Amino acid sequence: MIERLQELGKEALQEIKEADTVKALDNVRVKYLGKKGPITEVLRGMGKLSAEERPKVGQKANEIREEIQKNIEAKTAELEEIALKEKLKEESIDVTLPGKEIKRGARHPLTAVVEEIEDIFIGLGFQVTEGPEVETDYYNFEALNLPPDHPARDMQDSFYVTNDMLLRTQTSPVQARTMEKHKGQGPVKIVCPGKVYRRDDDDATHSHQFMQIEGLYVDKNVRMSDLKGILEAFVKKYFGPERSIRLRPSFFPFTEPSVEVDVSCGICGGKGCRVCKNSGWIEVLGAGMVHPNVLEFSGFDSNEYSGFAFGMGVERFALLKYGIDDIRHFYTNDIRFLEQFKRA
Ligand SMILES: [Zn+2]
Repeated sequence: MIERLQELGKEALQEIKEADTVKALDNVRVKYLGKKGPITEVLRGMGKLSAEERPKVGQKANEIREEIQKNIEAKTAELEEIALKEKLKEESIDVTLPGKEIKRGARHPLTAVVEEIEDIFIGLGFQVTEGPEVETDYYNFEALNLPPDHPARDMQDSFYVTNDMLLRTQTSPVQARTMEKHKGQGPVKIVCPGKVYRRDDDDATHSHQFMQIEGLYVDKNVRMSDLKGILEAFVKKYFGPERSIRLRPSFFPFTEPSVEVDVSCGICGGKGCRVCKNSGWIEVLGAGMVHPNVLEFSGFDSNEYSGFAFGMGVERFALLKYGIDDIRHFYTNDIRFLEQFKRA
């Protein structure tokens, strides 16, 4: 019986040696140490042995079981280590490979234009001021010399939120609000950039939402020549020193007199071409001397103070600067369009 046990032990160790997976090892364990295994089988026949032999066989059986168990454990550890090494090898990272490029964003072209224009006016002594986009009828119209029945209101079809609240149609209410805060004391020298809203049908040159920058300078003895000088300095800085401006009479309810400002065409240099429709000039902004009523509405004595104001469309300045032909490109978030302005 002891011989049979030793034989079984040998067979088991051989099979453990040959097992090359954890699963195969488990099969060996079940085969030799399980309840239906050969060792258990041998032990069942112990009843036939003498009282003297019985403990010897029992002891031998335990020894062999322990040996098998130990060998299986050792081999399991060995196999697990091999498996781990292989896994590490597969998952190893070559740190010398080039990395993935991080995609860098850029400022939106309209933001870039706003910041450039702001910088120019800061250099001319202006402060940047902002205001609410949902505005009262009073600040959007009345304080700017546009009483409820004024016909010029028709030029700015609006999005009303309530009867007397609307999405501002212009950035001018910021001018009215700022003047009011100054309580009749000059100087006020600001530029106000921001989004404005009008009920326009969207096309290549119109959008229901667009951006404006307005400027206001109120002080004692501000003259029309100051307006012309500031605008000329701005245009030369923005478009280039070779460009000049031209003022044409116009009408705005909040300025008197009012002018349209043209800049000389950058393509033909003023000779006339397709871009300037053969006129040599391109219209870029509206301006004028602040209407006395607007000064009085905001608490300034119009006998003591005077001022000028101007307003421009940011999109138009971006179109002209970058040669873009459709305003809708600015709002459609097409990455192919936006990526062209990485260095703008
Ligand atoms: Zn031209």
